[in-house]
Amino acid sequence: MGLLYLGTPLSWDETKQYADHVREHGIIQFLHTWDRLKDRCGDELLWGDEVEYMVVTFDDETKNAKLSLRQTEILAKLSKVVNDLTDDDTPALMTVPTFHPEYGRYMLESTPGSPYTGSIPDLLSVETNMRYRRTLARKHLKSNEIPFTFTSFPRLGTPGVFTEPHFSPDNAKSSHSLFLPEEITNPHARFPTLTANIRSRRRSKVAINLPIFIDERTPRPFVDPTIPWQRSIYPEDPEAKNGAALIDHIYMDAMGFGMGCCCLQLTFQSCNVDEARRMYDALIPVGPIMLALTAASPVWRGYLADVDCRWNVIAGSVDDRTPGERGLKPSKDNVVIPKSRYDSVDLYISNDWINKPEYNDERVPYNEAIFKRLRDHGLDEPLAKHISHLFIRDPLVVFSETIHQDDDSSNDHFENIQSTNWQTLRFKPPPPNSEIGWRVEFRSMEVQMTDFENAAFAVFIVLLSRAILAFNLNFYIPISKVDANMSRAQRRDAARSGKFYFRKSVLPPGRTTPIASTPSSSGSCSPVEWSKDAPAKEKKLRNCFPPVPRPPYVEDGPIEDEYEEMTVEEIFVGKGSKFPGLLGLVEAYIDTLDVGVGDRLQISKYLDLVRRRATGSLQTPATWIRNFVRSHPSYKFDSAVSQEINYDLLVAVDEIERGVRRAPEMLPEDYGPSNGYHSGSTP
Ligand code: ADP
Ligand code: MG
Ligand code: MG
Ligand code: MG
Ligand code: MG
Ligand code: MG
Repeated sequence: MGLLYLGTPLSWDETKQYADHVREHGIIQFLHTWDRLKDRCGDELLWGDEVEYMVVTFDDETKNAKLSLRQTEILAKLSKVVNDLTDDDTPALMTVPTFHPEYGRYMLESTPGSPYTGSIPDLLSVETNMRYRRTLARKHLKSNEIPFTFTSFPRLGTPGVFTEPHFSPDNAKSSHSLFLPEEITNPHARFPTLTANIRSRRRSKVAINLPIFIDERTPRPFVDPTIPWQRSIYPEDPEAKNGAALIDHIYMDAMGFGMGCCCLQLTFQSCNVDEARRMYDALIPVGPIMLALTAASPVWRGYLADVDCRWNVIAGSVDDRTPGERGLKPSKDNVVIPKSRYDSVDLYISNDWINKPEYNDERVPYNEAIFKRLRDHGLDEPLAKHISHLFIRDPLVVFSETIHQDDDSSNDHFENIQSTNWQTLRFKPPPPNSEIGWRVEFRSMEVQMTDFENAAFAVFIVLLSRAILAFNLNFYIPISKVDANMSRAQRRDAARSGKFYFRKSVLPPGRTTPIASTPSSSGSCSPVEWSKDAPAKEKKLRNCFPPVPRPPYVEDGPIEDEYEEMTVEEIFVGKGSKFPGLLGLVEAYIDTLDVGVGDRLQISKYLDLVRRRATGSLQTPATWIRNFVRSHPSYKFDSAVSQEINYDLLVAVDEIERGVRRAPEMLPEDYGPSNGYHSGSTP
């Protein structure tokens, strides 16, 4: 998240009255940026990751692993530590990291202190950088606290004690949750206000129902005995018994269940706005596939679920649509909005010729007045659609002190809407008064338990992003098929048993092997003739690859012939003569780089992890966690994940991360402190 402004948040009734004001000025602010920077060109690749942690406190006497609610103190300490670090304490090639607050009062987020460049040493420093951040965090926690990169906390919202200190949900004044106390939420005004205003706008609590995993002795029908069905403290308490909580499902009723999850995100700077738009589009179909491959969250509110991923939980947890907008009460005053403001991308936005209008095959509501305004200002249709689609949403938090802004120098109102559209990809315009260029953020992945894995996925995606540009890859499939993939990706065991729509032929017309185009020379955007011959080897990962011009004749068959269903294995290792697989493309891209033998070996370790996940020779974290639970001696095959199982699970995950316990089903056999995978830090 960006900077947290300290101020006085307006109530929902007040906020509503400023919705048009925020949208109006948000667009003015965007257009200022557009006018200033639409022709900006030549930005080099800079990129970075965001890793989220949950801090867990171990009580060895009661065998309980609880969420530590000390975020405020921990962040204060870490920022002091980070400020005091001298260059001597910081490993070579690294600037001191940054720690940020997140929604959960038990969460931390870390980013590298400054973005990575495209240099190979930077690429190979990612894992060390992540590990350094983890070690720093770990070193400054209490001796019984550990920062976990774990996607969903298995016992969040269960009866009993799951936080340290313990609080009752009876005082959940923002969410009115039956399960989560007020104190689960970051106390900064933004977060309780978001929570309360989503509930107010929606006119009920959020309602998330995940199918429960039906095990041998799961009671049928499953009517959850841990829901306080009869509570009557808040007006929404009867919702559960009046239909919000579904039979055979795990019911959740608060923002914290989703925004309290951890993920791994990556941001890439582009050469110019057009390149950012090509990159954004190409990564859209990759989003669900990476979600399936990184699946890490099979346990929710104390039960095994029949899904492996967090995505639909977060989508549901911030779904502020009114009943009319959700299509429940059709009325002519209400536009039906098909998706939550947290969901997969709705529109491709590139103005490259390979983006055919037919790929945008879903009904996407947009703000017509804003669309017209942007078009009148000279924006092309795809980008105007994208922005005016984001701007159908209301601002959720408005601070009284910042209602009126200088639209020349601020982008707060634009960011208010933009940053509460949480999609699988985010197209990020340059902030005012900064050197930062046009960026794209990749947001679908679940965070992995070890920095080796997190680095592997970061390295894989940055290399894939370069392959996309260098080889002019075409990944387009209809956006409705991407959405179908999104729901398939979350199913149990999707990485092994799922099938996904993917494009059959991804190379430019006439090509049978990937050939890199020549990047424009550094810092310039002068067009470079697209050469048929492979250019000389590059010493670093680059931006500024010109797109392939449209050939005079392109065969345009029916779109339905362009894609087919593939397994994850086929998507990564290839299918048929026309599709070398994402790994084949990445390997071909690495061949265009001047990488030494040792460096290539390290990159191979990362790509091998991706390959072994895709072929099923290594389990996803979700499968591993599910198997751990089901083989725990105290598991009763009734889908319930007890306090004791949770404790043993988290002890095991910590030991695996430190390399003192083997998990050859999930990690390479040689993962461990002695093999350079781990810094060997012990608590
Ligand atoms: P947000 O929460 O808005 O997504 P963060 O500030 O938490 O953003 O993370 C942004 C990431 O982008 C960090 O990893 C940072 O290193 C990286 N980054 C910073 N500047 C640039 C840039 N100019 N281009 C690309 N990435 C950048
Ligand atoms: Mg975050
Ligand atoms: Mg962030
Ligand atoms: Mg953010
Ligand atoms: Mg988050
Ligand atoms: Mg982010």
